[in-house]
Amino acid sequence: MDRQTSRVHSRVVEKAANDALLRRGVTIEEIAKIVYEMQTPYNKGLTIDHCVESVKSVLKKREMQHAILVGVELDELAEKKMLSAPLQQIVEADEGLFGVDETIALGAVFTYGSIAVTTFGHLDKNKIGIISKLDTKIGIGVHTFLDDLVCSIAASAASRLAHRTRDLEEANETFEDIKPEETAPESKIKDVRT
Ligand code: MG
Repeated sequence: MDRQTSRVHSRVVEKAANDALLRRGVTIEEIAKIVYEMQTPYNKGLTIDHCVESVKSVLKKREMQHAILVGVELDELAEKKMLSAPLQQIVEADEGLFGVDETIALGAVFTYGSIAVTTFGHLDKNKIGIISKLDTKIGIGVHTFLDDLVCSIAASAASRLAHRTRDLEEANETFEDIKPEETAPESKIKDVRT
C-alpha cells in the first residue's frame, strides 16, 4: 500500500476528534462559554456565537484533532483498565506529577501564539466552567487528559479572538460590526491564525 492510499483523510480525523469530545460529554457550547468569560472584558460586542465560531475553527486544526484523539483514547483505555502497569495506575489516579496530559494539550496551542500559551496556564490553574467539572469528577470516569484538552481548545479560541480584536481595531470596527460567521477563515478580515 503506498503512502497516499494508506493516509487517513482529514475529514475522517476531524469527525473522529469531534465525536470523541461529544462522547466524553464536552460540547462546543460549553467550551465557548469559557472563551466568552475569558474574552468578553476585552471585546466590545463579543457574543457567545463569535466564541462558538472560534472554537469550531480551532477544532479544524490537525494539531488539535491529533491531541484530542490521543488524549481521549488514553482516558478511555484507562477507564477500561487496558493500560499496562504502572501507566494504568498513574493515568487512573491523575497523578499531579505525571505532566504528559498537560504537555500534549499545551503542544496543540502553539499555533495560536503566546496568548494561547499564557491563557492555557491560566485555565489549567483556575479551571473555569466545564474544566472544573471534569477535574473534580472523581470516581466517575477518567478525565486525566480531557480536562487539559478543553483548556487547550478554549485557550486557542480565546487567543484567536484576541488577535481578531487587533485586526478589528485597525479597521475601526468591533465585534458588534461583524456577524459570527464573518470570523471564519473566509472572512473579510484575514489572519494567519484562522
Ligand atoms: Mg489533567
